Amino acid sequence: MYIHFPWCARKCPYCDFATEPLRVGELPHEAYTDALLRELDARADDLPGRTLKSIFFGGGTPSLWKPAELGRALSAIRAAFDVEVERLEVTVECNPSSLTRKNAALLREAGVDRLSIGVQSLRDSHLDFLGRLHDADRAITALRDAVAEMPRVSADLMFGMPGQSEAELSKDIARVADTGVRHVSAYALTIEEKTMFGSLHRAGKLRVAPEEQYASMFELVETRFAELGWIHYEVSNYAAKGEESRHNLHYWRGGAYLGLGAAAVGCLDRGPGSAERWRNDPNPRRYLSETTLVTETEMLGPEEIIRESLMLGLRTIEGTCLADTAERAGKNPVQGREQEIETALGRGDLVSDGQRLRVPQSRWLKLDGIVRDLF
Ligand code: SF4
Repeated sequence: MYIHFPWCARKCPYCDFATEPLRVGELPHEAYTDALLRELDARADDLPGRTLKSIFFGGGTPSLWKPAELGRALSAIRAAFDVEVERLEVTVECNPSSLTRKNAALLREAGVDRLSIGVQSLRDSHLDFLGRLHDADRAITALRDAVAEMPRVSADLMFGMPGQSEAELSKDIARVADTGVRHVSAYALTIEEKTMFGSLHRAGKLRVAPEEQYASMFELVETRFAELGWIHYEVSNYAAKGEESRHNLHYWRGGAYLGLGAAAVGCLDRGPGSAERWRNDPNPRRYLSETTLVTETEMLGPEEIIRESLMLGLRTIEGTCLADTAERAGKNPVQGREQEIETALGRGDLVSDGQRLRVPQSRWLKLDGIVRDLF
């Protein structure tokens, strides 16, 4: 279950997520929970026979939401399912500027067991460049408070900011790990077209790091986490053993999910070889005022299911399970691309044990091209 909270205190200039800036005093805390519960009700027919495995509150900045209201949504979701797994994972994305120790404790009381904190960098000049509301000290305090109150904490880090040195990035990783955090998502800064950075870049007013710098920083991040004994379990994700995000693993394994909230996306299997994906209206005001507002619906057939299964599964250390994919797609995923797979195996871009296809970690920098060559 994915819940989207569509507001932030300020829009970051590189961000193309479906989120709008809103003054904290104007957030419709109760009304948003009410709207989510209306949507949950409207989707009641989709729930029987499904097991609730994880809940992820993303955004936007769900740490701006009153914990009591987030908790009300959480309880209603749990009550709506007949079955849930024994260790339900409940994650909330947070920004250091809106996470206090008290809030973390209230979220824990509400049933949250994992926080994912948007640190991005521990150098104030990079945080200024990224338009973030926190500084490095605030980020470290938020991480320590989160670790003190929550069983599981993750941090987001970014690399490839202009002028960022490898020594700075190494230090960021060491300082984040030192707080007791056991999971990190490390992303390269990318310039998205419909953002302020996109406009500045088009106008020639934004310097970006050269391609080779991204590659060497990616390798540096991998080396630093390997030294800590963490697992590089997905292209952008690192975890101490057992600390992998179960919610994200479920996506990468092609699992079904429901999305609630403005701009939320859901995708449910509709029998072998068929799945339905939809996206809610991204406009929060319209979402608040109507029942369920789906703006886009797409039916996926066997080929689309196979394509996504390879695209997502090959991003992970475990790779794509051929039997699972065949079951979901109603078709053997190898059929029709024997030659492409053979060529990739011959080049060492893919490895197979007969059950799974994997891209070796040493080739992850070339992942996009390797996957493209399979289609
Ligand atoms: S806080 Fe996160 S979701 Fe909000 S604008 Fe910044 S990057 Fe985007």
